[in-house]
Amino acid sequence: MKEAKIRLFVNWPLGAGQAVAVTADQANYLFNVMRLARGAQVLLFNGQSGEWRAEVAETGKRGGVLICAQQTAPQIMPPDLWLLFAPIKKARTDFIVEKAVEMGAARICPVQTQHTNAGHIRPEKLTAYAVEAAEQCGATFVPPVDDLRPLDKVLAAWPEGRLLFWADEATAGQNLPITGPKGAASALLIGPEGGFSDAEKSRLRALPFIRPISLGPRILRAETAAVAALTLWQTEMGDWE
Ligand code: SAH
Repeated sequence: MKEAKIRLFVNWPLGAGQAVAVTADQANYLFNVMRLARGAQVLLFNGQSGEWRAEVAETGKRGGVLICAQQTAPQIMPPDLWLLFAPIKKARTDFIVEKAVEMGAARICPVQTQHTNAGHIRPEKLTAYAVEAAEQCGATFVPPVDDLRPLDKVLAAWPEGRLLFWADEATAGQNLPITGPKGAASALLIGPEGGFSDAEKSRLRALPFIRPISLGPRILRAETAAVAALTLWQTEMGDWE
């Protein structure tokens, strides 16, 4: 039996003997680009049922069938961590989404701040990046990517009990680490290149669930700040041990 190397996210139930229909895009990738033939092995996950080894049963130009054989990994949900960030230039936004998936965020929430560079995003594109990142990093879960929402609306509807760790560039160099109980419902907030406006800063400071954090003595680019904050949270409160 050849070893399965390709991992695919599918919108389909998974279980022993389950037949899975592949989409036209997946058929192109599997049978045209990767040249998989009948009998080849792939790994599948659907975000809920762990990872499954499946065998190619039918190949076609616009479709095909895979048959699930055996579960190869359990379903693992990330800790309850949201990443709120102000979208920046396209390639850098894509990078943040990819890294958020690798680092184990449970939800990705683009927010519009007063100095946000991007006026709109394409959530379906960003979701495709999230799927790709999950496929390559071995995750069995794909965090949903929200549409762009104004920061003040998000704050106004903030769920009770969720901590919001705010990476505040004004605290650069102060000793303000991430601390809190393991696994506590949390979110990280990363600002745009222009930082937060004075009005946003005073609003944020007054919120009962806000926890300002510092990311060291230097001012980081937004995408670096996102990865750094995810790392700190995972180390202190997340699933890294
Ligand atoms: N233009 C701003 C910097 C923005 S950096 C200025 O010059 O002040 C982009 C975002 O990364 C910031 O809004 C903040 O959320 C985060 N960030 C960068 N460096 C940081 C640091 N040392 N501590 C805390 N947050 C930081």
